[in-house]
Amino acid sequence: MVDKLYFSMTELLHSDIADKYNINNMPTDKKHYDNMLDLIHYVLQPTRLHFGRVDVACYRSYALWNKLKQLGFNPAKDSQHLKGQAVDITVPSRNLKDVFKWMKENIEYDQLLYEYDSKGNKWIHVSYNKGKNRKQAIDNYKA
Ligand SMILES: [Zn+2]
Repeated sequence: MVDKLYFSMTELLHSDIADKYNINNMPTDKKHYDNMLDLIHYVLQPTRLHFGRVDVACYRSYALWNKLKQLGFNPAKDSQHLKGQAVDITVPSRNLKDVFKWMKENIEYDQLLYEYDSKGNKWIHVSYNKGKNRKQAIDNYKA
C-alpha cells in the first residue's frame, strides 16, 4: 500500500483502530468524498510525488471519533477529520520538520500543524477547505 505512487480513497478511509474494533468508517455525506478528493489533489499527491512514501490517517466517522475519545485520544470536537478535510501524515524517510517546511512553502492548505503528544509521537496535521483556506501554520502544536 505505502509504496504506491498514487493515493487511493481506500488509504484515506483506512483506520487501524476502526479495523481493530470493527467500526464502520465510511462517510455518510457525499461532500466528505469531495473533500478527500481535494486533499488528494492539492495536498497529498504533490507531497508523495516529492517525498515518496507518505503514510496517512484521514477520515474519521462519528463512530470512530467516539471510539478514539473512549480510548483517551482526546479528539477535537469540531475536527476537520470528521468531514474528510484533514489528514495526519508521517514521512518515514525524512525529518518531519523538513517536510513541514516544504509543505508550508509549496502546498495550498487551510491549517498546517506540526503536532506532537506526550508519548513522543509526532505528525503533520494538514487540512484543505476549498475556497476558505486560512493559511494557518503552527510549527509546534501539542495534541
Ligand atoms: Zn489531525
